[in-house]
Amino acid sequence: MNLDLSEQVVLGIFAHPDDESIAAGGLLAWTAALGARVVVLSLTHGEQGGSIDPDAPAGSFALGELRSRELEAAGEALGLHDIRLLTHPDGMLPWVNAATLEQDVRRVIEEIRARVVVTFDEDGLYWHPDHVATHERVTTAVAAMGADAPALYYASTPAGAMRAVMNMALDRTEPGAQPPRTILGVDNPDAFGSLAPNPTHVLDTSEFARRKYKALRCHRSQQRTCALPHISEEDTPRLLGIEHYRLAPLGTLRATFLDRLRLTHSR
Ligand SMILES: [Zn+2]
Repeated sequence: MNLDLSEQVVLGIFAHPDDESIAAGGLLAWTAALGARVVVLSLTHGEQGGSIDPDAPAGSFALGELRSRELEAAGEALGLHDIRLLTHPDGMLPWVNAATLEQDVRRVIEEIRARVVVTFDEDGLYWHPDHVATHERVTTAVAAMGADAPALYYASTPAGAMRAVMNMALDRTEPGAQPPRTILGVDNPDAFGSLAPNPTHVLDTSEFARRKYKALRCHRSQQRTCALPHISEEDTPRLLGIEHYRLAPLGTLRATFLDRLRLTHSR
């Protein structure tokens, strides 16, 4: 697609390292490849996430540091221009002062002059409380910007997509080997997207699925029992290529370049 996005600034706002890749990796890589300045803001270092490293156990500062390096590597794979990593406590975002989080979000939007913001939809991909809180704080922060607000899009996972990843991974597990049990630490692949609101923008990002997969694989600390390492790269356009976005029903509705990227118009 010959779309020049060199005037565009896209900001993805998520809770933990790895969310950017699983929620929106295709779109972030695509828009970066089309020339947009693409930045990811992670509200936590994800220090409570799973761990494969005995020197960086869950809950440790060391795991937060490890995950920040994994995010840097994923950012390179996606072609991101910058990563902002805050130190809010992983697992506690619903209880962090809401005004503080909203200010943090607004500060970055204003500083980089983001015109398109992407965050979780209200289902938080799979009802993770930190993700749901991020959805709520970003929505409030953007709504408060009035006429200066960027367009806000909510990302969700197509229902069944992570079940297909798990099935493929199980098919590819060698007899006698330990079968995968999770997707990035989530036990139930059907939790992803099962109750997500309908998207307004269904994007075929399959051309960037290999980059998305490469970025996902950078988050190694989260993949001890994960299905993702078991799928093959050739499967990724089909398994990871479709992404769902919903334009936030705020007072900022407007046409953006996402309208030109979309595959179908659901509403
Ligand atoms: Zn997360």
